[in-house]
Amino acid sequence: MTSRNIVIIGGGPAGVFAAIEARRRDPLAAITLISEEPCEPYERPPLSKAVLLGRASAADAPIAGPKGLAGHGVTLECDTRCTAIDRTAHEVVTASGRRFPYTALVIATGSVVRQLPALPLGAPHVHYLRTEAHAVALARELKTARHLAVIGGGLIGLEVAASAAELGVKVTVIEIAPRILARVCDEDTSARVHDAHRRHGVDIRLDTALTGAQATPDGRIALTTGASGTIMADLVVVGAGAIPDDRLAAAAGLRTGNGIVVDSHCATSDPNIFAAGDVVRFPGPHGLVRQEDWRHAQDQGMVAGRNAAGANEEYRSVPSFWSEQFDLYIQGVGSPPAKPERRVRREGAGTTQICFELSGPHIAYALGINAQRDIATVRRLIDRRIAVDPAALADPAKPLADFLKARTPS
Ligand SMILES: Cc1cc2nc3c(=O)[nH]c(=O)nc-3n(C[C@H](O)[C@H](O)[C@H](O)COP(=O)(O)OP(=O)(O)OC[C@H]3O[C@@H](n4cnc5c(N)ncnc54)[C@H](O)[C@@H]3O)c2cc1C
Repeated sequence: MTSRNIVIIGGGPAGVFAAIEARRRDPLAAITLISEEPCEPYERPPLSKAVLLGRASAADAPIAGPKGLAGHGVTLECDTRCTAIDRTAHEVVTASGRRFPYTALVIATGSVVRQLPALPLGAPHVHYLRTEAHAVALARELKTARHLAVIGGGLIGLEVAASAAELGVKVTVIEIAPRILARVCDEDTSARVHDAHRRHGVDIRLDTALTGAQATPDGRIALTTGASGTIMADLVVVGAGAIPDDRLAAAAGLRTGNGIVVDSHCATSDPNIFAAGDVVRFPGPHGLVRQEDWRHAQDQGMVAGRNAAGANEEYRSVPSFWSEQFDLYIQGVGSPPAKPERRVRREGAGTTQICFELSGPHIAYALGINAQRDIATVRRLIDRRIAVDPAALADPAKPLADFLKARTPS
């Protein structure tokens, strides 16, 4: 049997963990990861936190560990943009015309920022945050900025707001919804996070839509809004979400639509091509879903990599995310039901709290603040569908791990 030739496109966690797991599964395979970025793949979460605060650089956080991908026996082709997938020849084509033959391919091209027409990427003093280059450029301007406006009170916008406030920059957040983090937080938790920002001087304008932006002769940007009039800022960060970068897959004729559609084994509509991470839509409990978080990218990348190397595994996930803002370590785990049947709040010491959303006797979703250890337990409770007693759940004196011991059939 000829040895496998596995090619991976994309140097985020999905691509890197696909490469590492493919190597573990098949020690003889030739494995190549192609990334358009100029460096060893790095973690994105620090970009809106430690990197902006000047406490770390992307080079401090290589996804593949200190020895990089080479340490795992994976060939990294960086600074290399893939422009086409020739499915007939089984080759990936790059911008410089090089062709990489594959026996199995993993697409892990992630997402790209959602741009606002009024504030295009590249306009003076306008920033988006996705890559190290974006973070370095923003950190440089933050050093001299006096007033930062952040468009969007979602996770990344609020992390940038918190970092800038810690650097002593005046910050205004413009949020169209009636509360921040509405997609992931219950009202009370939203209010607590909002309050933390207020205490650090961040001015969050809710129910406020951006209607236009104009560069002014003094080098600032005038942001016109519906409810808050004109806001003058010398720096703007747009945190308006991300869209799956499925262009390569779509051009190759793979099934796409708001992401690359894969089955439960991470296979695309071409059985030799797998996909994972931010870029995919995969079967969730209630139909196809997208997930944009680090843990999903890692876990799904691992399954895609193993399957590209001959395994036949299903990907099952408990969605989760984390965010750091000031002294709040916010974590979500599970899938928020459209209408929770019951909410239970567990208040610990200081700022520690968890808000549970129940569906019948089971936890569907939990949102924790400064409750890392408990959230790890909650993840297991959700994964194993263990029934819980709401009164005990609300009692901080009752260890959550007890539910794991006293397992009741679901
Ligand atoms: C600033 C920031 C902070 C974040 N913080 C958190 C956090 O605190 N917690 C959390 O859970 N998640 C966080 N996330 C989200 C998390 O980082 C993403 O969900 C994760 O990176 C997705 O991984 P991925 O491998 O699917 O895609 P990506 O990380 O987007 O990687 C895709 C890679 O593919 C490359 N690529 C795309 N097209 C091509 C091509 N044609 N040829 C070659 N290369 C290509 C891209 O350049 C990129 O390097 C954050 C994201 C950002 C941007």
